[in-house]
Amino acid sequence: MSIQAETELVVRSTTEVDEGDHERFTHIVLEGYTPKDGEFVALNNSVVEGMVNATPVRALCGKIWVPGRDPQKYPVCATCKEIATSLGWSLPGG
Ligand SMILES: [Zn+2]
Repeated sequence: MSIQAETELVVRSTTEVDEGDHERFTHIVLEGYTPKDGEFVALNNSVVEGMVNATPVRALCGKIWVPGRDPQKYPVCATCKEIATSLGWSLPGG
């Protein structure tokens, strides 16, 4: 995956809500990017789309799940955070 610096990344964080799952984290989902001269390019299913249609999304760490409608405050997934910071992205919510 090669994304140039001029592109505007669309990154969204979403909580993993899975009944009976004791590991709850906020994962970072890269939804797509907008090149300087071009239209939005989607890379994955959008989180909103996932909430509405119950379609799975994929986080940076590779985890695939269906985002819940009721996001809560959980610690950011360490793997997602590591990948995002190594790519120089600014994390949603700090
Ligand atoms: Zn993650």
